Amino acid sequence: MTMPSLERVMTVISGGIPDRVFIMGRADQGPMALAAGLRGYSQFFLDLGEENNGPLIEQLLDICVEADIRYAHALRGAGAHGTSLGELGSDTVSPAMYRRLGLPRLKKFYSAMQGKRFPASLHQCGNTAAVLSDMVSSGAAILELDPRTDARAAKETTRKKTTILGMVDPANVLERGTPALVREKSREAIEVLAPGGGFILGPGCALTPETPEANVKALIECAARFGRYRPDGTLLGR
Ligand SMILES: [Zn+2]
Repeated sequence: MTMPSLERVMTVISGGIPDRVFIMGRADQGPMALAAGLRGYSQFFLDLGEENNGPLIEQLLDICVEADIRYAHALRGAGAHGTSLGELGSDTVSPAMYRRLGLPRLKKFYSAMQGKRFPASLHQCGNTAAVLSDMVSSGAAILELDPRTDARAAKETTRKKTTILGMVDPANVLERGTPALVREKSREAIEVLAPGGGFILGPGCALTPETPEANVKALIECAARFGRYRPDGTLLGR
């Protein structure tokens, strides 16, 4: 079987209406996550613990970010409207290691995307509180945050600097909850995160294939019903 081209995949996804949908061509994984995938997660963490490996790890991460940039540009060339990276989060690497090894490469990636005016987001699983301002400084146009990060604190840290995509719980609400719970949690997210703009309502992490369609619909309906703005940035409400 031959692999379909990126262009063909984009055409199928957009259903022939590329001007009416936003196609997020995800260039996952981020440099550290990609390095971990290449080496094997356990091996990569052992690599990080060995001081003599420093130069080799730097070299590997440089190769990984280059691959990310090329892949993202290929997605753009194929018709994607934006891209994203998922990087190792604070649950797996320390803030100091993230700042030393991950952040410089993330800055390189987002600067390359800005150069092409290609919106690019950054996702990290878990509670991102310890590195949230670093994530902002990466230059990512959007931060995809899951509900383990405190929403109010996230709004304060990102206000007028970047956009949050989230922060509805993909497992306990979107996969396992009812449409009524999705509506309740979506309204809560809109109330805290939407004022002043810089917010896209959505799942805080990847949706599982088991997510009921009715829950996805409830999320979209909430965005349309409660997430509309007046020209001054205040919410219209319903
Ligand atoms: Zn995640």
